[in-house]
Amino acid sequence: SGGAAGDGSQTAAALMLMVGAKLTVIQVPFLFKHAIDGLALDPSAAALLPDGVPLVVLTPPLLMVAYGAARAAAEGMAQLRSSLFASVTEAAAQRTAVNTFRHLHAMDLSFHLSRQTGALSRTVERGTKAVGVLLSTTVLHVLPTAFEVSVVSALLYRNCGGAFAATTLATLALYSAFTFGVTRWRTQIRRDQNRAETAAAQSFVDSLINFETVKYFDATAHEERRYDASLSTYRQAALKTAGSLALLNFGQSVIFSGGLATCLVLAAQEVAAGTMTIGDVVMVHGLVFQVSIPLNLLGMVYNQVRQSSTDMAALLKLLGETPAVASAPGAPPLAAAGGSLRFDGVSFGYADDAPPLLKGLSFDVPAGSTLAIVGGSGSGKSTILRLLYRFYDARAGRVLIDGQDVRDVDVDSLRSAIAVVPQDVVLFNESLLYNLRYGRPEATLDEAKAAARLAQLDRAIEGMPKGYDTVVGERGLKLSGGEKQRLAIARALLKKAPILLCDEATSAVDTVTEHAIFTHLRDATRDERRTCVMIAHRLSTVVDADRIIVLNKGELAESGTHAELLRLGGEYARMWALQQGEGGPDWTGTTSSLPL
Ligand code: ADP
Repeated sequence: SGGAAGDGSQTAAALMLMVGAKLTVIQVPFLFKHAIDGLALDPSAAALLPDGVPLVVLTPPLLMVAYGAARAAAEGMAQLRSSLFASVTEAAAQRTAVNTFRHLHAMDLSFHLSRQTGALSRTVERGTKAVGVLLSTTVLHVLPTAFEVSVVSALLYRNCGGAFAATTLATLALYSAFTFGVTRWRTQIRRDQNRAETAAAQSFVDSLINFETVKYFDATAHEERRYDASLSTYRQAALKTAGSLALLNFGQSVIFSGGLATCLVLAAQEVAAGTMTIGDVVMVHGLVFQVSIPLNLLGMVYNQVRQSSTDMAALLKLLGETPAVASAPGAPPLAAAGGSLRFDGVSFGYADDAPPLLKGLSFDVPAGSTLAIVGGSGSGKSTILRLLYRFYDARAGRVLIDGQDVRDVDVDSLRSAIAVVPQDVVLFNESLLYNLRYGRPEATLDEAKAAARLAQLDRAIEGMPKGYDTVVGERGLKLSGGEKQRLAIARALLKKAPILLCDEATSAVDTVTEHAIFTHLRDATRDERRTCVMIAHRLSTVVDADRIIVLNKGELAESGTHAELLRLGGEYARMWALQQGEGGPDWTGTTSSLPL
């Protein structure tokens, strides 16, 4: 992109070229007039460059050459202007696209969860294109045409009189009004045609997809009639479109020819009165004809501007949406000091009108310790992590990191202090190394490999033919669930954030590997004193946690160490007994105690 200053000077140059082109093209009828007048006075002057005539004398042949040159020069300037301006519109489109992209990334999670990504990208694509179309139709078409019409009217007024100028302006006004009106009516017809076309294609496909059903019920003739009927609708709509176009073109021509003929009649009267020459008649014809050329595109331009305005409005609406979660103005960065966490009477629900999911939840996680959260599915465990990461804000109460309310600090600084291993791991369709380094792009290869080793992923990667360069496939589909999870763990470790959140990080990993990962992870977190919050389904993984809380329907049911909770003999102890009864370590990560 050229930057705003470059765009400004390029726009100025394009506008200057536009004025130059129009002023040049307006010379064309005048040159022709002088040539005709010259010929009318002295037909023998038609010989090209006769001997002895100095070049400074503008003979009719020279005027003819100038006529051609002016036409060519005007076109040259117009084309140069278009190509110059293309870089301005492209740059504007690029800036709009990047700004929109940034805006979309700044929107909160609930915005994206409630949005279809396909529809979103179409809105952005159309809106971005509309910016370029609006800019270029304005600068390359609307402004030049308005300029040309004013200059031609002024020239007609000065050289030929008010009647000529008034006739031309009235013709143009009528022409525009007619074009806009008919074009708007045609848009509706065109829409009907598109709808009929879609319906016909739909019935075609539908019928063939249901081939078997059609045969079961011997309904071929019925299907054919249906298809034929939908094609008839389409045919009528298509005929209407073609007919209305013919009407538009013919009407435009009638209006314009009427105006032109009126001007020529006026000129003929002036010639009869001796106040105009033959050359003047030719000039009037040339000038009026000149303004008709851009008018041919008027209907198309009108349609484009209307469509682009709609697309742009949709984009502006999108850009006008404010994220529900954003840094407060002037919010300071998080002053991370070890990473102690505190929930202080936190209530939260996804829907404002529904009863809250978390009900006055309070707990503490001292810096460098590990908290495990267990509880039934849907009890709000993942929601706790989302509140910590500020994907959502608490409805009541406070979430504190190192004594600072997460709502009072800069969101980016907050998120850079937290590494997350999500429940569903989604990867970019790039190499393993790329996905690993997503945790910290500047990490060295050795650091990436060390993280992979901690997550027990190194041997699996080294066993692949392309090693760290293996491309993982769409959303990481070419990796097993366990490999994806281990990659997510390695990626999170590489981030070297003081706080680590794991949401069932090892649910797809076998228990032996899981045990190895947690042993390594504990060593690693102990060295670097990382605060860790982990959600676990398999209780064997939380035995060593400094504290375990049991969540029941958004409320703290039990809390303590593994030993304390067992002694308590509550829900945790019951779950523990149940999971122990499942027959010890299972290799698949799921229950394997079925007596097969
Ligand atoms: P857990 O992790 O304990 O299984 P979650 O915290 O993921 O539970 O979710 C708790 C409840 O909130 C579930 O009933 C779930 O359907 C609901 N929920 C989760 N995310 C959203 C969301 N974005 N919008 C609305 N409801 C949600």
